[in-house]
Amino acid sequence: MRKNIVAGNWKMNTTVPEGVQLAKDVCAAVAAEANLKCDVIMGVPFTHLMAVKEVIGDANVGLAAQNCADHTSGAYTGEVSAAMVASTGANYVILGHSERRGYYNESYEMLKTKVDLALENGLKVIFCCGESLEERENGSFKDVIGAEIRDSLFHLTAEQMANIVIAYEPIWAIGTGKTATSDQAQEIHAFIRGLLADKYGAQVADDTTILYGGSCKPSNAPELFAKPDIDGGLIGGASLKAADFMGIVTAF
Ligand code: PEP
Repeated sequence: MRKNIVAGNWKMNTTVPEGVQLAKDVCAAVAAEANLKCDVIMGVPFTHLMAVKEVIGDANVGLAAQNCADHTSGAYTGEVSAAMVASTGANYVILGHSERRGYYNESYEMLKTKVDLALENGLKVIFCCGESLEERENGSFKDVIGAEIRDSLFHLTAEQMANIVIAYEPIWAIGTGKTATSDQAQEIHAFIRGLLADKYGAQVADDTTILYGGSCKPSNAPELFAKPDIDGGLIGGASLKAADFMGIVTAF
């Protein structure tokens, strides 16, 4: 059975003290929730990982980095390796976010390497994919999403796929206030699950968690999460306020 997950992506927001306070608020709210129906993950800046891990302690909350290097170690000034991320106690890394693909030219090949390094170091991967507005409008969006998934993930074995969560994030819906309709999102989630079924068989497809991301908030999360192939959300803006984030966590 696949897991429902709500993961926050704090992006480049909060100082360490602010992030620690936000993590405390989220952990307290999760602890107070008697009937939690999903796993909760906080995706924080590198600088915050150890301090937030300490806040999490034994609480039932996962910790994600938002990137890792495509090299193991050495002369890569400013980079942070998957082994370094894992050594903080983080258990996930977000890879392939459209902001990294777009602003930092992350290619399918580079992401393939990052995925391998993350898995080798015991991290689970939240792998983002999604089309631009132009690709949605010219009808090439399924080709784009298919290529993103095939070229960076389909070298993995079925056993390795158990450590991959996919996040469908239409770029035109990220931070814009424009959410994909629940039907539009469901169509793509079913398409992605179909790709997984063709490559790995029905069991792997059925077991893979597929998240929706793009202006998800407490008001639209219940409708999105009610769809059969939407297993939760990757949440940007609304993850920066514990009350908003918890409004989405409790949407199941
Ligand atoms: C994101 O960037 O992962 C995201 C989904 O952002 P927002 O929720 O702010 O649209």
